Amino acid sequence: MIVMKFGGTSLGSAERIRGVAERVRERQSRAPVVVVSALGGITDLLVRGAQMALARDPGAEELRLRILHRHHELLQELFPSGAVRERLHLYVEAIGLELDTLYKGVHFLEELTPRSLDAISGMGERLSFEIVAAALDAYGVPSVAIDARRVIVTDESFGRAQPLMDETASRVRETISPLLENRRVPVLGGFIGATRAGVSSTLGRGGSDWSASVVGSLLPAEEIQIWTDVDGMLTVDPRAVPDAKLIPEVTFEEAAELAYFGAKVLHPATIKPAVERGIPVRVLNSMNPSAPGTLITAVATTAGGEPRAIAFKKGITVVLISQPRMLMAHGFVARVFEAFDRHRTPVDLIATSEVSISLTVDDPERLAAIQADLSLLGEVRVLRGMAIVSVVGRGFIRRAGLAGRIFHVLQEVNIVMISFGASDVNVSFVVAEEDAERSVRLLHREFFEGGRP
Ligand code: ASP
Ligand code: MG
Repeated sequence: MIVMKFGGTSLGSAERIRGVAERVRERQSRAPVVVVSALGGITDLLVRGAQMALARDPGAEELRLRILHRHHELLQELFPSGAVRERLHLYVEAIGLELDTLYKGVHFLEELTPRSLDAISGMGERLSFEIVAAALDAYGVPSVAIDARRVIVTDESFGRAQPLMDETASRVRETISPLLENRRVPVLGGFIGATRAGVSSTLGRGGSDWSASVVGSLLPAEEIQIWTDVDGMLTVDPRAVPDAKLIPEVTFEEAAELAYFGAKVLHPATIKPAVERGIPVRVLNSMNPSAPGTLITAVATTAGGEPRAIAFKKGITVVLISQPRMLMAHGFVARVFEAFDRHRTPVDLIATSEVSISLTVDDPERLAAIQADLSLLGEVRVLRGMAIVSVVGRGFIRRAGLAGRIFHVLQEVNIVMISFGASDVNVSFVVAEEDAERSVRLLHREFFEGGRP
């Protein structure tokens, strides 16, 4: 068994959906379960419409019609005629009526709770799974559409509901397993579920990967494939370095590290259920299906010690607190962190000396208040417009000479702060924003382009 999850861009047009059908057909002997997102951009439109309805903006109706039109148009291209197309047109209309009712409810009540928003935002997946299942069928892949709200049982934290694994496991056994035994391809919408009482919920934006991972871990599948529109994870952001290369394999920890730097390929928290059960997750490109993709594994299968990627993030603020009397004192570090905690501001990198602490924050919104609190503890300096540059990999602690190579390459760059990841998956440092791209290019050349100048 495998799980194949297709994101919104993979479903962007009739042609892409035919591509999806082809990918599934090629893998029919591996008993695939298909999980789909909404068509690209639809969830955003649904949410925007809800916000407009809340503001009593008549534009909500326009958005609703646009959403329906996209789906009707797609049906015309996918199924030029016949009973299946008629059935699906009616289905789209029925969902459209439901959406109309919900938008009107929001409009008149002037209230949009997370629970109402979930009922609305999940409609994209309620549309797409029926359409994709019918398309697969028409393509000669016998498929069955399954409403994921009958499978994924969640708690009641609407907007970010957590799947209840035991309940969901029995639903998977009841609904999905029999289909696989009969050589049918189950097709489910990602992102959506329902509470024990049957109220629609969602797993949060981007949650389809999570759905795929939940189903895959419960089957259990031998592999979970996340089909997207890029070749996989890259050694560096290709906008900074055109010579970016595909990373064939990463560990879950490395993937998490890269995600912090905005490698938007997938959010590692969403594949946690798979990782916990040791099920490999493969990121693949539906626009370039023969590419091998990136394999994400729980346990490293390669030796480590070599960098896997260079990542960077701008818009960082460094806060330096120095206090000569901190020498040999205890409790100082705790009080510094309390200040950040009080203002709910996460700290990313930390470096300490006997008499000072440097740390970075991503979100400077509450910085003035934090600064005021910290000034009671010591002398505070704030450096804005900084960037974190990170060499991501595993097993660095056992690796002699790596730091030397990194800092040799960067000898002309002013490094403000250095931090060696405690989980042994990165070496990170802070430079001024204007030095970020240059540092990244130099490091990428050293580690991934054979050091050529
Ligand atoms: N359609 C949902 C979203 O756009 C879920 C997903 O695509 O993962 O957030
Ligand atoms: Mg996504």
